[in-house]
Amino acid sequence: MSQLEQIFTSVRNEFPALTQKVHGKNLIYLDSGATTLKPKSVIDRITHFYSFETSNVHRGAHYLGDVATQAFESARNSVAQFLNARMPEEIVFVRGTTEGVNLVAHSWAMMNLKEGDEILITVMEHHGNIVPWQMVAEKVGAKVLAADILDNGELNIEDFKKKLSSKTKMVAFTGCSNVLGTNNDMKLLTKLAHEVGAKVLIDGAQVVSQAKVDVQDIDCDFFVFSAHKVFGPFGMGVVYGKKEILDGMSPYQGGGSMIAKVTVEKTTYNDVPFRFEAGTPHIEGAVGLHAAIDFVNRIGLDKIHSYEMDLLKYATEKLSAIPDVKIFGTSENKGPILSFNIKGAHHSDVGQILDQEGVAVRAGHHCTQPLMTRLGVPGTVRASFSVYNNHQDVDALVKAVVKAREMLL
Ligand code: PMP
Repeated sequence: MSQLEQIFTSVRNEFPALTQKVHGKNLIYLDSGATTLKPKSVIDRITHFYSFETSNVHRGAHYLGDVATQAFESARNSVAQFLNARMPEEIVFVRGTTEGVNLVAHSWAMMNLKEGDEILITVMEHHGNIVPWQMVAEKVGAKVLAADILDNGELNIEDFKKKLSSKTKMVAFTGCSNVLGTNNDMKLLTKLAHEVGAKVLIDGAQVVSQAKVDVQDIDCDFFVFSAHKVFGPFGMGVVYGKKEILDGMSPYQGGGSMIAKVTVEKTTYNDVPFRFEAGTPHIEGAVGLHAAIDFVNRIGLDKIHSYEMDLLKYATEKLSAIPDVKIFGTSENKGPILSFNIKGAHHSDVGQILDQEGVAVRAGHHCTQPLMTRLGVPGTVRASFSVYNNHQDVDALVKAVVKAREMLL
C-alpha cells in the first residue's frame, strides 16, 4: 500500500456512514458530487454546539451569546483564509451555492444591468447558475448567452471569447462541471471577462473540495460554494465578494441584523457582510463548515487532489474497457467526476441496478438540461469520488456496471 493509500485508509475510518450496509451490501458511496459524507469531527462539532453553545449571535447580552458569536465569526475567518480573501468582511454566509448566485443576481445584477446588456454563462452550467441570471435578464431586458464546449467536454475558449463584448456585464461560470468534471481555467476566464469590463462570478460548488482556491490570485469578483459539498453541513454556503463591490450593493433580504437604524419611515443598513445576513443565521452551519475546513486542511488539498486524481484515472481506465460504455468529459484537467452511459440502456435503469449492488451513484440530468441537450442525451450515470473512496470501490462500480450491461442489453 502506498503512503497516500495508507493516509486515506485512515481518513475513510472517520466516516460513520461507511460502516453501514445497504440492500445487504457494503455501501459504496460514489455520489460525492451531489453531497459529500460527513466526517465524525464535523458531526461532533455540530453536536457540541447544540449541546453546550446554543445561543443566538450578535446579541451580546450573555456568556453563551458571546461563545456562539465567537464561534460564528471564527468560522467566517476560517472561510476567508480557506479562499485567501483579503478580509473576513468579504465572506457572506448564505444557504448554499444556489442562494449565493441568487444574492449576486438579485442584488448586484438587478441594480447594474439594463436593457441590451448581456450575461455570459457556459453551456455546462448547473441550473443554479443559469436560472437566477435568466430571472434578472427577463426583468431588466438583458440577454443570457452561453459559451459552447468542445467534444471532449472542455470549454470552447474561442466561442467564449467570441461571445464576450462591451455589452457583457456579468460572466458566470463553473469552476468544475458537475457532469463532465471539466475544470475551467478560472484565472484565464476571469482575465478575459475583465478585459471587456464585465464582473465575474465563479460557481465553486464542485471546486473547493478538490483544488486550492485563491480568490485574490484568480481575481474573480464573486465566488460561491456550498458547505455540504466539502464535508460540511447542509443549508450552509458562502458568497465571497470583493469588499468594494459588496459595499456598493443593496441588501437582498430585509430584517433583523442587517440594519443600522430603523424608524417606521426608513431603514439604514448595516455594513457588509451583515447587510446580507438578515435574520438569525445558520449558526451551527457556520460552525460545522469551520470543522469541515479544518478536516480538509488537516489532510491537505494537495494530497486530496493527488489521491482523487489517481482514483479518477483508475476508474476511467476500468470503465472505458467495458464494451458499450461511453464516457462524457475527457478533458485533461478534470475533477473527480466520471459521467457515462451504457449505449442502448437508460441511465435510470443502470442507476437502479447499481443501487441494488450497494453502489450509490447519481443518474439523471444533474440539473444541467442545456448540457444534456448539447450532449444529445436525456441523462447520464455519474460516479464521483472523494477522500473516503478507494480502488475497491472502483472495482465494485465496474463489477456492477458489467452486471447492468448484461441485464439491460
Ligand atoms: N453548481 C454546481 C456545479 C453544482 O454541482 C451544484 C450542486 N449539484 C450547485 C451549483 C447547486 O448547489 P446547491 O444545491 O448546494 O445550492
